[in-house]
Amino acid sequence: MPESVRLAMAEPTIHHRTPEFEAIFEETRALLFKLMATDEVVMLASTGTGAMEAAVTNLCHDTLLFVNSGKFGERFGKIAKAHGLTTMEVRNAWDTPASVEEVVSAVKANPHIDAIAIQISESAGGLRHPVEEIAAAVKAINPEIMVIADGITAVGVERIDVAHIDCLIAGSQKALMLPPGLAILGLSHAAIEKTGEGRGYYLNLASEIKKQRQNTTAYTAATTLVIGLLEVLKQIDTFGFGKLYCDTARRAKATRFALEAIGLHSYPHTPAKSMTTIDDAQASEIRAILKEDFGVNVAGGQDHLKGKIFRINQMGFIESYESVWVVNAVELALAKLGRRAYDGTANRVYNEEYFKNMLQPKESA
Ligand SMILES: *Cc1c(COP(=O)(O)O)cnc(C)c1O
Repeated sequence: MPESVRLAMAEPTIHHRTPEFEAIFEETRALLFKLMATDEVVMLASTGTGAMEAAVTNLCHDTLLFVNSGKFGERFGKIAKAHGLTTMEVRNAWDTPASVEEVVSAVKANPHIDAIAIQISESAGGLRHPVEEIAAAVKAINPEIMVIADGITAVGVERIDVAHIDCLIAGSQKALMLPPGLAILGLSHAAIEKTGEGRGYYLNLASEIKKQRQNTTAYTAATTLVIGLLEVLKQIDTFGFGKLYCDTARRAKATRFALEAIGLHSYPHTPAKSMTTIDDAQASEIRAILKEDFGVNVAGGQDHLKGKIFRINQMGFIESYESVWVVNAVELALAKLGRRAYDGTANRVYNEEYFKNMLQPKESA
């Protein structure tokens, strides 16, 4: 969390049904439209999973096809089942993205499918699904099918083409650099039409849309988090969303190249830009050394990947000197484990990749 965001959130709490908060809400919505590039945006006082549930219950009325290449994909299926919806699954190993062909053949095989749900970046194994291609292919078969894309570790990481996406989900505590508790849904006109009067009570998108268009919320807004979100979005907007996406992509690539150069293996077949995921028999030992010797926290794996992977965050404002410190710490950890003599390769490769365009003459506009 950037300091300015923490400070903005430290101001006295204001009442949500006031012109003062409505002005903040309006400004936040305007910047969210810029971030999401969807026809409508809705903020919910819930974590990301609440938005996933709202998307499924409001946009799927019959059969949900869910893509499962990890814990979060699996969750879409669990949500649908909890609501008595029929499900169909496209399942792969956690390092393997869904292919357009397998989704297309599943959609063609079952005319009851009225929505598909997929992660853009599946955080369980750090992979990127080809969501835009899948969405376009599904819409070509049947434009009525709703495409729900969980962008919780993708929105704020890279520009997402929402041309064929009906619902794009974001959450506060990942790339948006905020505490947990706020979720955002970007919706297409078709999604708004499909939800009609809305479904459910608290997670009823129709009642939220109605209120949020008037710069208020159906129930009490998460005021402090909205204030924090406004500050985050304003900051990104001052230097441009494009620069954030570009820096993140460079950092993610440079980190992966640096770690591969010291003999480590990138786990997913199609790495997401949100995180760098390494599978290694000594993942736990590496994580422990990073934490104890270098003050670096990296995430481990869950379920069958516990102790087998580590994941380095690339989301948010991260200075390249921090990434340089991290890849160097990993190289030192390998030396400490007796795997490889330390020679500064990780740092050199990171810097070469990250800064390679800096010395080239600037192209004229
Ligand atoms: C973290 C995460 C979620 C879950 O969000 P919560 O805020 O924990 O409910 C869903 N999808 C992805 C891809 C995530 O990384």
